[in-house]
Amino acid sequence: MTILLDKQVLGYHVWIASEKWKSSCGRRDKCKWQIANVGGVESLISLHWSGRKAAKATLLRVGGVAIIDGGLATELERHGADLNDPLWSAKCLLTSPHLVRAVHLDYLEAGADIIITASYQATIQGFEAKGFSRGDSEALLRKSVEIACEARDVYYGRCKEGSPDGIDDGRVLKHRPILVAASVGSYGAYLADGSEYSGNYGDAITLETLKDFHRRRVQILAESGADLIAFETVPNKVEAQAYAELLEEEDIKIPAWFSFNSKDGINVVSGDSLLECASIAESCKNAVAVGINCTPPRFIHGLILSIKKVTTKPILIYPNSGESYDGDRKEWVQNTGISDQDFVSYVNKWCEIGAALVGGCCRTTPHTIRAIYKTLPKRSAALSSQ
Ligand SMILES: [Zn+2]
Repeated sequence: MTILLDKQVLGYHVWIASEKWKSSCGRRDKCKWQIANVGGVESLISLHWSGRKAAKATLLRVGGVAIIDGGLATELERHGADLNDPLWSAKCLLTSPHLVRAVHLDYLEAGADIIITASYQATIQGFEAKGFSRGDSEALLRKSVEIACEARDVYYGRCKEGSPDGIDDGRVLKHRPILVAASVGSYGAYLADGSEYSGNYGDAITLETLKDFHRRRVQILAESGADLIAFETVPNKVEAQAYAELLEEEDIKIPAWFSFNSKDGINVVSGDSLLECASIAESCKNAVAVGINCTPPRFIHGLILSIKKVTTKPILIYPNSGESYDGDRKEWVQNTGISDQDFVSYVNKWCEIGAALVGGCCRTTPHTIRAIYKTLPKRSAALSSQ
């Protein structure tokens, strides 16, 4: 069974689920189960009152795959942005928000259902180090979500004007549920020294340090209008634990996903056990998906099989292009050189073994996402004939 992140429903967390899901629901006392017709499919759904009237929530539908967008920084550079700065892609929130919006739009027109904000390296501490006030720093975080929401609005406008078949000049212009995921990069991403690829923060950094580092940022993003929080490129167990505890302590009202990275295809980059890391996400009631990003495509198959051992939640994967990042040289270096074509040729296999959300990370482009979009209808057809 695959699960589709399908649409937002005001005031409710809505899940569509199999019996397996029903039994894994952590809020059974508060949810009502009922049969409903969703997209022509009779489905078992559960309504969780989210506890806050204005809260947006996510609906997961049986029988499909949601597409996540691709790399942001590479595309910003292609549009002419200069990212040589510790703030990296977050620098564009200041200098060129129109480019960020253009890249989000490119991904929507390539077929992405979920766009990830330019806040990966946007931290209050990072902005303050640049001389911004606390208030301005917090406003910049909110701005990352506003830009993505604006792109979604512009996109919906284009869909209305587009041709009836939803394809226009190779652009996908189909009105569909689109989610804005607020990116939270790791503490290592803030350090901008490549340590999100080692997970080695030194002994001085503890669970409490990490919670304090991320706390205000997570609060702001949760109240920003984003549909979910994307904890990305989580390099070690202690940071996953920090996120899970923060969601609970701060009573965060929107869902989150946990995405780890690996450089050996077995463990997360720090050497911590992937199974232990994924188990933290599994037991976090706010987590709606768990998976892998920024990892070479050749490792993804094995990593999905590993994660499946410890989770009943949807599995997300958005690998990088197969090149690897040299933290000392601060640049990407070619190794296996997997092309878009090769990358995409894996996608259906990944979905067969359990991936429910698929996209791309560093060095992937709208071209990659369009190719994923094109390959997935085959998957849907295969499903409906079963
Ligand atoms: Zn990446």
